Amino acid sequence: MSEKPVTVTGVRGLPLICEGDDLPALICERVAIEDGDIVCIASSVYSKAAGHVLSLQEVTPGEQAVRIAKKTGEDPRFIQVVLDSSEDVLLEYPFVLSELPCGHIGVRAGVDQSNIEDEMVILLPPDPMGAAARLRQGFLDRSGKTVGVIVTDTCGRSFRRGQTGHAVGWSGVPAIRDFRGDHDLFGHVLKITEEAVVDEIAGFANFVMGESNNGVPAVVFRNCPPWTGHDTLYFRPDEDVFRKMLKN
Ligand code: GDP
Ligand code: MN
Ligand code: MN
Repeated sequence: MSEKPVTVTGVRGLPLICEGDDLPALICERVAIEDGDIVCIASSVYSKAAGHVLSLQEVTPGEQAVRIAKKTGEDPRFIQVVLDSSEDVLLEYPFVLSELPCGHIGVRAGVDQSNIEDEMVILLPPDPMGAAARLRQGFLDRSGKTVGVIVTDTCGRSFRRGQTGHAVGWSGVPAIRDFRGDHDLFGHVLKITEEAVVDEIAGFANFVMGESNNGVPAVVFRNCPPWTGHDTLYFRPDEDVFRKMLKN
C-alpha cells in the first residue's frame, strides 16, 4: 500500500482582500493547484471579497440589541448585526448563540471584528454553500483544475475550551464520510459512525491559517484519500437534543 503522503500548504503572500477581488485568481498566481486538491478558504476573506462587510456607523441598534448588549457588555450596534444575521436566537447571555439561515449554529452568528478596519465587521457569507460552489467554479475557470473547496470559520465548541476550524460551506466533496454498515476489525457492523471530514480538514486548515496577523487565508490539501457519504452535516431540529434543551 503506497498512498502518497497528504501535503498541506498555506498560501502565503496574498494581499489584504477587498471587495471585488478574485480569490481563485489570486490563489492560482501563488500556488499551482492540481486536480483533486482541496482548497480551504477562510470565510472572512470570502466575505471581504464578496462585500459581506459593513460599518457599525451604519447600524442603529433596536430594543432587543440594546437589552442584550447591556448584559454582555458589547456594542449594541454589533449585537444588532448579529441579530440581523440570525434566524433563531438560542442563547442571549453570556454570549449570543444563534442559528443562521444556512443552518450553521454559532456564537455571535460568526460576525467578526478582527482582521478588518476599526468600526467594520465581517459577516459570514449568507450562502456559504453557494460561496464554495462559486469558488470551485472560479478555480476551474482560472486553472482548468477540478478541486474541492471548503469555506472555513473559526468556531467555539461545546464542552471544550478552544476554538477550531469548522466547515461552513463546501463543494466538490461530501461533508460526511458514512461508515454505517461497514465492519470493524472484529466484524461488528458500525451503526452510528459518521465522520465529519469537512470539519476535520477545516480544523487543520485553521491551524495553518492562524487567527491573527499570519495573513494565510487559504490552505491547499493534496492527496487526501477520497471518501463517500452525504452532505447532511446539520441536525434536523427534531434530532438536535442540545438545540431543543436551549430552546426550552
Ligand atoms: P476566519 O477564521 O474565517 O474568521 O478568519 P480569520 O480572521 O481568523 O483569518 C484567517 C487567516 O486569514 C489568518 O491567517 C489571517 O491573518 C488571514 N487573513 C484575514 N484577512 C486577510 C486578508 O485580507 N488578506 C490576507 N492575506 N490574509 C488575511
Ligand atoms: Mn470568523
Ligand atoms: Mn479564524
